Amino acid sequence: MTHFSAFSLLKNALSANENWRPQWPAAEPKAEYDVVIVGAGGHGLGCAYYLAKEHGITKVAVIDKGWLGGGNTGRNTTIIRSNYLYDESARLYDHAVDLWEGLAQELNYNIMYSRRGVLMLAHTVHDVQSFQRHIHANRLNGVDNRWLTAAEAKAYCPPLNISPTARYPVMGAALQERAGTARHDAVAWGYARAASARGVDIIQNCPVTAIRRGPDGAVVGVDTAKGFIKAKKVAVSAAGNTSVVMGTADVRLPLESYPLQALVSEPVKPCFPCVVMSNTVHAYISQSNKGELVIGSGTDQYTSYSQRGGLALIEHTVAAIVEMFPVFSRMRMLRMWGGIVDVTPDRSAILGKTPVKGLYVNCGWGTGGFKATPGAAHVLAHTVARDEPHPINAPFTLERFTTGRLIDEAAAAAVAH
Ligand SMILES: Cc1cc2nc3c(=O)[nH]c(=O)nc-3n(C[C@H](O)[C@H](O)[C@H](O)COP(=O)(O)OP(=O)(O)OC[C@H]3O[C@@H](n4cnc5c(N)ncnc54)[C@H](O)[C@@H]3O)c2cc1C
Repeated sequence: MTHFSAFSLLKNALSANENWRPQWPAAEPKAEYDVVIVGAGGHGLGCAYYLAKEHGITKVAVIDKGWLGGGNTGRNTTIIRSNYLYDESARLYDHAVDLWEGLAQELNYNIMYSRRGVLMLAHTVHDVQSFQRHIHANRLNGVDNRWLTAAEAKAYCPPLNISPTARYPVMGAALQERAGTARHDAVAWGYARAASARGVDIIQNCPVTAIRRGPDGAVVGVDTAKGFIKAKKVAVSAAGNTSVVMGTADVRLPLESYPLQALVSEPVKPCFPCVVMSNTVHAYISQSNKGELVIGSGTDQYTSYSQRGGLALIEHTVAAIVEMFPVFSRMRMLRMWGGIVDVTPDRSAILGKTPVKGLYVNCGWGTGGFKATPGAAHVLAHTVARDEPHPINAPFTLERFTTGRLIDEAAAAAVAH
């Protein structure tokens, strides 16, 4: 395993960086594993890491149809926060934030977790009431969140336009200071390297074409482009493609897949100190360490697997950003892209066991699952290893859509990033 240290950096610099060993070997599938994980995004790789580290299960393969981290993990705008309304969500996302804080040390990988604060702007009386309700609920759950006046929000984020003549004047903001961003690729790479070092096989460019079940209905393995792989436990972490993968095991999920877009500007000097989100004008923005303004848009109105979204949405988003930050009106945009997000009716994840013995699912993160990566991966590993949910993910069942015990973050937030 390649270790990063001051010494190794110096040694490799002296040989023109040509002698670095690969961070993880390119594995070929073995005939059998204890656990197969479908999807090498942050969630799947993280699950493999915690299976090996905390449960001693190392005969694990993480299989991806493309390249590792090439799904939504490498396409998202990296906002991390835990100021969700409901107790169940607050526990899950705050568990993730707890893990984010020590993740760089844990993985010995600079994932660039930056605790820079997330401001959620209120533009209407409804926003004010809704965010203040969130703040009270969060505080009861021990999640930091506080109210700022418009002037205080401006002091926290100087480029913000708080003119009362704006089309959507800022009436105040909720601030979670513990929230922030992290480097998305590094999260996938860090987990991949650490999992691989503990014996996990990471198999790329190998679509899983079917989940195979035996005569008693239990999982027996997966069919892949590289042949059949035997496994009594299969965990699916395939984001926007979850319904397709789970459909091969005859499991139907209440998911719809939509394109979600983002875009970045040309890089500029540091000028934007935090993350700002606005549900009403429907846009959010931060600045990456490279200097690009990272801007997120909404989902398309129609379902699709195209991995690119409609231009109208980008136009709307850019107009919203200029409304809130007129100072950025002459910035040039560098590139845009899309990912396919899997959305549940209550906008909360499905994370746990399925009606099929040996089959586990981690999906429904929609537009906001990057922030959950370490927490979701951690409790998924527990669920797979013990065949029972961790108390944190116990409420995030598939059954809630039949029992009606929803975790209705859909009603609680318009923008779920
Ligand atoms: C534009 C955009 C912005 C976003 N912004 C944020 C944000 O700011 N904050 C936030 O918290 N979340 C955000 N999200 C959501 C977040 O990116 C996802 O919820 C999260 O990254 C999902 O991680 P994952 O590991 O489950 O999925 P992914 O990273 O998508 O990994 C799933 C993997 O499964 C693989 N796969 C699929 N089908 C198969 C198959 N048949 N065989 C093998 N492999 C398969 C895919 O190739 C993929 O690599 C955003 C998403 C997008 C698209």
